[in-house]
Amino acid sequence: MSSSLREGPAPEGRFDVAIIGAGVVGCAVARELTRRGAGCVLVEAGPDVGAGTSKANTAIHHTGFDAKPGTVESQLVTRGFRLLDEYAARVGIPVAKLGALMVAWTPEQREALAGIREAAEENGYRETRPVDLEELYAREPNLGPGAEAAIEIPGEGIVCPFTTTLAFATQAVRGGCELVLSAPVTGVRRVGGGHELDTARGPVRAEYLVNAAGLRSDEIDAMLGHRDFRVTPRRGELIVFDKLAGGLVNHVLLPVPTEKTKGVLVSPTVYGNVLLGPTADDIEDKTDRSTTAGGLGALMGAGERIVPLLIRQEVTATYVGLRAATQHRDYQLNAHPGQRYVCAGGIRSTGITGSMGIAEWVRDALADAGLELSEPADEPELRMPNIGEFGTRPYQDAEMIGRDPDYGRIVCFCERVTRGEIDAALRSPIPPADADGLRRRTRALMGRCQGFFCGAEIAAALEGDSDGD
Ligand SMILES: Cc1cc2nc3c(=O)[nH]c(=O)nc-3n(C[C@H](O)[C@H](O)[C@H](O)COP(=O)(O)OP(=O)(O)OC[C@H]3O[C@@H](n4cnc5c(N)ncnc54)[C@H](O)[C@@H]3O)c2cc1C
Repeated sequence: MSSSLREGPAPEGRFDVAIIGAGVVGCAVARELTRRGAGCVLVEAGPDVGAGTSKANTAIHHTGFDAKPGTVESQLVTRGFRLLDEYAARVGIPVAKLGALMVAWTPEQREALAGIREAAEENGYRETRPVDLEELYAREPNLGPGAEAAIEIPGEGIVCPFTTTLAFATQAVRGGCELVLSAPVTGVRRVGGGHELDTARGPVRAEYLVNAAGLRSDEIDAMLGHRDFRVTPRRGELIVFDKLAGGLVNHVLLPVPTEKTKGVLVSPTVYGNVLLGPTADDIEDKTDRSTTAGGLGALMGAGERIVPLLIRQEVTATYVGLRAATQHRDYQLNAHPGQRYVCAGGIRSTGITGSMGIAEWVRDALADAGLELSEPADEPELRMPNIGEFGTRPYQDAEMIGRDPDYGRIVCFCERVTRGEIDAALRSPIPPADADGLRRRTRALMGRCQGFFCGAEIAAALEGDSDGD
């Protein structure tokens, strides 16, 4: 395992662009700039890519039908949706286009559906259609009684957020981008027209700077002298139900949104579980990822109405994601060409889908500020390991097992993860830092026993004991 990613002094020299934050946005930006010939350095506070909000969300691949028309978010989610659709198919990111059904449970919500369809049209999405109650209950037999009306949004889907971020980062690194992990940026200075970053691993120098620091994007912005927005984390609690609940739901079941939130949904995941959530509570502490009895109770109440059988199923996990909400109802994309600085902060609720659109916006803003970029080069071929249930997993793949019998040796029985996948993750260009990182790359430890059975072998593999016992 390469340790220079996480240890030792940061690379010397002066890069074209430094990107702060290796969430889905920073990684998408790093990939986009690298393939256009920019010398990039991606600086991340934590020991892994994608370990902030990008790992803890609802993982819906949004068409953008319900964005606020006229916003930058609407434009970039629509664009990002198409780009990610194509990219996911090319590199093997698990996705499934299940379609969504937005269900109204009250007369007021029923009335609101027409406006939602109009807004979708304004956003350029013309495929919504009303679904009558007979069809609704035929397509979702386990839906709770009392639905008033519904519309279908056929393009909505689900995606693996872990693989998305890792694919962008892997392609950036393979294209020459330096990834500097475990290096929180604590200060930024203007030096010779460019920037010098103070990091825990020493200084990093670059001509141009991109702020993709998520929940802390306002703090980085302040280091550059700006006070355009303030991030107030909006906590979203979620419940993951066991795979045995998988057959209860066929589509993404959306509520009718309110001014403040998209509301609580029920959806299959690409891993075969069912997800219920998220809540939406504004909090002050950017590090508070604790679930609350009140939040989980409210989710169970909402879930009981939507799919009553669901809440009798086993819960595999609960988790919290913090949205980088600000006082504004839009992404905080701000270019400061005179400072050679672009801010891509406050990417609240749609950043997995919007990431590739945001990366294009940042690219163009940097080009306008004077960064020289070339036409995109052919990227190194990339095929991500499939950790989704909508494609063939390695334990099912006779050809893979024929090439390497370790792909037939299951280590994590709950999630059917093989020794071959674990070893491949440990040898990959961005290996996991810990068990949580291995979980995001392989799904080991993610199942109903939560590592009770395979924990020791996984720990040994992470320690570098190749026999694993
Ligand atoms: C509950 C919930 C549900 C959601 N559902 C969906 C959905 O269904 N579909 C969808 O598309 N999106 C969804 N989102 C939104 C999506 O998850 C986010 O928009 C996206 O992950 C934001 O990515 P990011 O890269 O901006 O931030 P992050 O992933 O938080 O990355 C920022 C990175 O910056 C690093 N950083 C911070 N400060 C510093 C520093 N000083 N120095 C160096 N590094 C630093 C952090 O460690 C972090 O890794 C949801 C979000 C939540 C919370």
